[in-house]
Amino acid sequence: MTDCVFCAIVAEDVPSHTVHETPDALAFLDANPLAKGHTLVVPKAHYEQLDDVPAETASGFYDAVHDVVPAVEAAVDAPATTVAVNNGEAAGQEVPHVHAHIVPRFEDDAAGPIHALFRGRPTVSKDEHTTLADAIVDHL
Ligand code: AMP
Repeated sequence: MTDCVFCAIVAEDVPSHTVHETPDALAFLDANPLAKGHTLVVPKAHYEQLDDVPAETASGFYDAVHDVVPAVEAAVDAPATTVAVNNGEAAGQEVPHVHAHIVPRFEDDAAGPIHALFRGRPTVSKDEHTTLADAIVDHL
């Protein structure tokens, strides 16, 4: 059996509440949900972080996210979802197999936007914005 729990779920060695399966991706309920209906979407093949996923699998992975989001919202009558990826250990990723969290959201759930993850904001000058944008462009 694989060491990766999500690979084990894909292989059906570990049970899951699977809600959607495509050639590239699998979606199943999170075992420790942040809200009822919290669902994870994973590429079936093992990739640790988003930039490890090859383009053809990435589009299949996103297609599954795209299809599962409205189904989760409808199932729990949620007007919204937070869709998020903890991309790397420093970002809080605990299972090193790419996964998108789809968490149902409600006006009164008090969880806040993903901006609430960060207490402070850096001051970024116009010049720094230009430098940062150039650096990102250079790496694309
Ligand atoms: P992350 O911190 O982004 O790596 O999140 C990992 C998520 O995987 C957590 O929300 C866990 O509750 C969830 N998880 C871990 N093991 C299982 C499992 N066997 N079945 C379903 N969800 C799991």
